[in-house]
Amino acid sequence: MNIILLAPPAAGKGTQAELLESKYHLNHISTGELLRKSASREDDFGKKMRDLLESGELVSDEIIFEVLNKHLETCENQNLLLDGFPRNIYQAERLEEMLKEKNDKLDFVFFLDVPKETLKRRITGRRMCQKCGSAYNVNIDSLKPKVDSICDKCQGTLYQRNDDNEESFEIRYQEYLDKTSALITYYQDKQILYRIQSDKSKEEVFQELCGVIEKGMKK
Ligand SMILES: [Zn+2]
Repeated sequence: MNIILLAPPAAGKGTQAELLESKYHLNHISTGELLRKSASREDDFGKKMRDLLESGELVSDEIIFEVLNKHLETCENQNLLLDGFPRNIYQAERLEEMLKEKNDKLDFVFFLDVPKETLKRRITGRRMCQKCGSAYNVNIDSLKPKVDSICDKCQGTLYQRNDDNEESFEIRYQEYLDKTSALITYYQDKQILYRIQSDKSKEEVFQELCGVIEKGMKK
């Protein structure tokens, strides 16, 4: 079984990925993490990756596939949960070819849909403790600190990360739209896109994802 997760920033993609990974024994692949990991290798490839990441240049499609293939060769579990990948149509097409060569295919593409205003509230409400790193959210009742700007656990001062403001959010959201809308259409045409309304609790979202998977597996 192979799954792709698509979602805007702060839609809870990481949480759902973890839940899916453990329930269905999937091999969770985040390309960002893979790139960082490959840069820590002690060989020539690691050196090449370090130089590339330090240069701040955009990582090409070629390199991403090279890293992905190298990684998959070392994995026993080939049931993939792809997170942050593919990023464009070219990558999507190559991924399909890659799976086809292994007599495999994509089964589900989940799009975690959350209204823009909700995402903005989540992101601009985030606070972190300077001392212990605990996370809070002043726009979500269950995640608010008991006293304004003070950590419940260690009394440290809470702060807002630089890019958790409204302007940065607008930029990140626009980037996300530019990148993802083409993929959404692409997978919709292939009839493997499942739009999950994700403006609800993580348990409810997860149940819905599982529902789609169980139904799909019976076919
Ligand atoms: Zn603290």
